[in-house]
Amino acid sequence: MSYVTSLKCRECGQDYPVKPLHVCETCFGPLEVVYDYERIRAVMSREAIKARPSNLWRYRELLPVDGEPEAGPFSGFTPLLAARRLAAELGLKSVYIKDDTVNHPTLSYKDRVVSVAITKASEFGFTTVSCASTGNLATAVAAHAARARLRCYIFMPEGVEAGKIVGSTIYGAQVITIRGNYDDVNRLCSEIADKYGWAFVNINLRPYYTEGAKTFGFEVAEQLGWRLPDHIVLPTAGGTILPKVAKAFKEFHEVGLIEDGHVKVHCAQAAGSAPVVHALHKGTDLITPVKPNTIAKSIAIGNPADGFYVLKAVRESGGWGDAATDEEIIDAIKLLARTEGIFAEPAGGTTLAVAIKLINQGRIKRDESLVVSITGNGYKTLEAVAGALEQPFVIEARLKDFDALFERLQNGKRSVAGAA
Ligand SMILES: *Cc1c(COP(=O)(O)O)cnc(C)c1O
Ligand SMILES: [Zn+2]
Repeated sequence: MSYVTSLKCRECGQDYPVKPLHVCETCFGPLEVVYDYERIRAVMSREAIKARPSNLWRYRELLPVDGEPEAGPFSGFTPLLAARRLAAELGLKSVYIKDDTVNHPTLSYKDRVVSVAITKASEFGFTTVSCASTGNLATAVAAHAARARLRCYIFMPEGVEAGKIVGSTIYGAQVITIRGNYDDVNRLCSEIADKYGWAFVNINLRPYYTEGAKTFGFEVAEQLGWRLPDHIVLPTAGGTILPKVAKAFKEFHEVGLIEDGHVKVHCAQAAGSAPVVHALHKGTDLITPVKPNTIAKSIAIGNPADGFYVLKAVRESGGWGDAATDEEIIDAIKLLARTEGIFAEPAGGTTLAVAIKLINQGRIKRDESLVVSITGNGYKTLEAVAGALEQPFVIEARLKDFDALFERLQNGKRSVAGAA
């Protein structure tokens, strides 16, 4: 049972049938799924949701699938942690971490969007799925495609982390890396999608795929006790998650699940790939593409498809945004690990680093509640921080060697021991 009525062009409003379409034939605007909120309001309740399994399909009336969802039976419903030690360091009263480092099965927010896209690909009868990816999407598509018994081709820019390549190939996907950056990969994939007729989750299935990102926001609201925070900071790459989380909050109000809350939505980018933040700071709608250069490879998109909608959502909410340098990103990854025991990938470091900037700028105040969105796991991007950490000591398996080392450590003399 689906509550989707059509696809609609976000620019000119023209209606389209529920098919694998993504751009308007008239104005080339992006298409978006339209729901019958009236009917959803009549069937969706807090009690009904709470009685369902702890996965993203607990909000299925607000997701664009027709039948019983096939993909992602354990995806979503990740922890929302009250981060008391981090809050104390930041000088805030209530800070929450929405922790998608433990999303099932590939440890990033992409398990949400891909669960919806793969279910939809099967519903449409595709036998081959594909994607243009900065890394996390690749691992998610490869894993979910394996379960769904779909053939899978993955396209990534060269230079992505080993964990993302190994973490895609392992599932039997055909992985192809492209000499160029993500924007080059994306351009090529649009041509391949046209010619080969495959389901590219983030190209021709984009209207369905992006809806999966709303579940990040639905969960935040439910896990806060059907309330909204004062602030949420989200990372921006192609510009999917941020506007969709803003939409999720609006929809929950629309269907009567929460009171109208006012959330300031803030955008975080890496300084080496910050076209949206530049436009935000300049006060323009015009996003000037950049050539990405940052350790935050999963969010290194220089020409974001939905950057305009990120600006719109941020401005409508009264939020702001900022960019973090690679050094600030690494410091924030360490801070989160040290205070809350969560190892984020650089996208998460970016989000926390930007949250700290917004606090220092006085935009997020001591008494206000803050959700920091941690969208990916650091175990997949070890090379990003390995060089910035101290090497382990190497000693013989002899107690007296340890005694000597321990004494040196007690005296604070770290540098004497060999660091092979
Ligand atoms: C893809 C990704 C994002 C956000 O990308 P959008 O395209 O803006 O939705 C954020 N964090 C991680 C770890 C990602 O992989
Ligand atoms: Zn149009």
